[in-house]
Amino acid sequence: MEHKSYTTAEAIAEAKRCLNCKVPQCRKGCPVANDIPEWIHQLSMGNIGNAMSIINAKSNLPAVCGRVCAHERQCEGNCVLGKKGEHINIGILEQFVADFDSQMRLTRQPMVQKDRGRVAVIGSGPAGLTVAGELARGGFDVEIFEMEPQPGGVLMFGIPEYRLPKAIVNSEIDKIRQLGVRINCGVTVGPDINIDQLFDQGFDAIFMGTGTGKPRQLTIPGIENSSVRQAIYFLRRVGLYNAGLINRQEVPVKEGDKVFVVGCGNTAIDAARTALCLGASEVTIVYHRDIERMSALKAEYNDAVAEGVKFLWNSSVTKINGDTQHITNIEIETDGKTSVVAADKLILAVGSRPASRIISTTTGIEVDDKGYVLTREKPYGMTTRKGVFAGGDVTGNQATVVHAMQDARAVADGIASYVDALTLMRAVDS
Ligand code: SF4
Repeated sequence: MEHKSYTTAEAIAEAKRCLNCKVPQCRKGCPVANDIPEWIHQLSMGNIGNAMSIINAKSNLPAVCGRVCAHERQCEGNCVLGKKGEHINIGILEQFVADFDSQMRLTRQPMVQKDRGRVAVIGSGPAGLTVAGELARGGFDVEIFEMEPQPGGVLMFGIPEYRLPKAIVNSEIDKIRQLGVRINCGVTVGPDINIDQLFDQGFDAIFMGTGTGKPRQLTIPGIENSSVRQAIYFLRRVGLYNAGLINRQEVPVKEGDKVFVVGCGNTAIDAARTALCLGASEVTIVYHRDIERMSALKAEYNDAVAEGVKFLWNSSVTKINGDTQHITNIEIETDGKTSVVAADKLILAVGSRPASRIISTTTGIEVDDKGYVLTREKPYGMTTRKGVFAGGDVTGNQATVVHAMQDARAVADGIASYVDALTLMRAVDS
């Protein structure tokens, strides 16, 4: 399950295949408009530091993006070489440049004086880290509040180790810290400290990058059985176990378990592959549509099939049988026919929504009927409460790491212009 990587010679050889197109389609496919041909060109000449500086201009988390971006639907899917033969492996090249840069310490970002204002960032997933990094580079004093014992959000506790090694996440977080950003872990904004108290502490603006921590539930008879678990809960437990923070008994899949996973997005595939890794005897994904309509990436699906994950298409789990703690079997309906199959664990990966810890402990932040925080265009990302901004998954429709980052960069601009205006008004008033 190791992620592919290049040696220096392989990376340069791959970079040399790039045509450095005049109208680069790869770049059009990149949500953050990364200058892909230019950094690949630098890499092809062996100028890895220059390549890194070009990538850094558009991305705060390149070692992460190189590994978990949906390249097949973005840059690589658009690369002209892919039309006739093999596209440039842009993701693996980006990963190579970022890792090489970290190991060799080629580029160092200057520490900027923090005199433009104070910003609190809630959540340290891709959106929170991006906003924190952007604002710290722009001269803001930034403090992150994270409820988990370690920073990284979904990068640390949602994406499995084989897709995104935690050492890589930690090194990207260290780079954000080196910009002068302070990170407070184990603090849940809502119950521990609310938005009003943060303003009382002197923050000029607050960013909510709290993601979607509340999983969607299904209404199936037997769903309350404690052997039914949410995929994000399961992956988080595995993340905590791998970090040495809980023991193996606290991870809800045991060796030899027969596991079924409902849903077919990347989280479902992550949960299925992780269950196999933990020693499940059999793992089956049950999806109510066909393969053409799964939201998982084809590459992830192919890897899962190669590892032995089974798939049941056009199928739904209709009943869970057993006592309150153990499943004996589940009923699955496929094309109108019901079959009863033995099962030990059922994992649900059917989407998630924002939790309401923050908005229920303060006033003035409006959400839509699904719980997504409403934001405005000017200043970009500000919620219905003055000075409180939101971005990434918590505002809806930002389902990937790179889209959360893209949105967060725009919100960081919105926060900067808001705080600058605030400072100006204060100066006029005084
Ligand atoms: Fe290189 Fe492909 Fe981008 Fe052209 S589209 S510049 S060949 S990566």
